Amino acid sequence: MRYISTRGKAPALGFEEAMLSGLARDGGLYLPETIPTLAAGEIAALAGRPYEEVALALMRPFVGESFSEAEFKAIIARAYAGFGHAARAPLVQLEANHFLLELFHGPTLAFKDFAMQLIGQLFQAALARRGERVTIVGATSGDTGSAAIEAFKGLDNVDVFILFPEGRVSDVQRKQMTTPGEANVHALAVEGDFDTCQALLKDMFNDFAFRDEVRLAGVNSINWARVLAQVVYYFTAATSLGAPGRAVRFTVPTGNFGDIFAGLIAQKMGLPVEKLIIATNQNDILHRTLETGAYRRGEVVPSISPSMDIQVSSNFERALYYAYEGDCAAVAAQMGALAEGGFTISQGAIDWLRAHFASGRASEEETMATIRATYATSGEVICPHTAVGVKVARAHLGASGAPMITLATAHPAKFPDAVEEATGIRPALPARLARQFEAEERQTPVAADLAALEALIRERRAR
Ligand SMILES: *Cc1c(COP(=O)(O)O)cnc(C)c1O
Repeated sequence: MRYISTRGKAPALGFEEAMLSGLARDGGLYLPETIPTLAAGEIAALAGRPYEEVALALMRPFVGESFSEAEFKAIIARAYAGFGHAARAPLVQLEANHFLLELFHGPTLAFKDFAMQLIGQLFQAALARRGERVTIVGATSGDTGSAAIEAFKGLDNVDVFILFPEGRVSDVQRKQMTTPGEANVHALAVEGDFDTCQALLKDMFNDFAFRDEVRLAGVNSINWARVLAQVVYYFTAATSLGAPGRAVRFTVPTGNFGDIFAGLIAQKMGLPVEKLIIATNQNDILHRTLETGAYRRGEVVPSISPSMDIQVSSNFERALYYAYEGDCAAVAAQMGALAEGGFTISQGAIDWLRAHFASGRASEEETMATIRATYATSGEVICPHTAVGVKVARAHLGASGAPMITLATAHPAKFPDAVEEATGIRPALPARLARQFEAEERQTPVAADLAALEALIRERRAR
């Protein structure tokens, strides 16, 4: 399997190289040259199988010869062994025809663990085999960073630096990044918001001299291996509810468009997904784009669902690649225009997007009201991100008879203040996390300055 850049000007790479580099050298994102499809009978055969077995069957064709079947199987087993639920991604019913897909049973209590635990193991195996060492730098609005630190801490062949917006992540998120004591992980508190962190990271990847010097690797949600790992739970959920015999719909709380994009890949592989519904908080660039056909960035306004406080949605570029039917020049032109504030999508491309996606937004008040109402009507305590999804899903419930599956992206205990205010219940952290949080915090403040940041990374990484 070969991977090509959405902007068409970088060499095609194999799975392992695409995974280790993250961003393509022309600034684009990697996508598989072709997407393998499953026949209805093959999808039906996945129903009821253990999560790891489904993961192996679905991901194996994308990995190609990079890992042997036995090696890949062992990697998957290790990746999900630390999850606190036997089903890994259990389904819970909220109301008639509406289900929650609980993606928060991993070690840092957010869906990011599904991808990050897997790529930690994949990096370890690939780098050990090559005798190489890499420097992982990631930007986080909260959950990616904690998931990355948890997945890579103590591994032999990586140094990990995580940029997070100072003061804009929850206490639990910050402690998950600052309390691990392993010498190879570094939490960097950046003066600015998440878009500042993400822009610094992009600039660093475009500094090719630095990129080669420290062998920079990216594990942000633009990394193809992360998207791939997230495809699996779309299949386990849909087959549990009758796919491929019955079509389903998914509502996905969205920021960087990585999680919902995995749903599009699942659909391209043959899963009958009738609609993918984008749920945004007040930072609603994606919802506005679908409504107006123009992608225009705004100011980030901090919300109670901070992992979605994003106005430049990186993985949307991948959707544009399909919307423009693989016209890399068109994608590159639009991404270039983003620097000036935004672009208008062509009629053909916006029609394609509206055929595959619907959207909605939840205000802060609606998010709180949804946490309260969901607890009152079902007894389920949900986090603010999940509540954004539930609110938007409810607005679409009547549109067809296909079951609606809303992705529950984080455990309520990661955002206890909002949940307590809405329900009167302060959700408790699992005991293993509570213990970890007594450790001393370690973080380094950094200004939004590329040269200073690169100097810090040079100095701190092991050689
Ligand atoms: C990262 C995150 C999201 C957004 O996911 P994207 O893949 O960036 O769209 C939503 N909810 C939670 C809890 C997250 O951590």
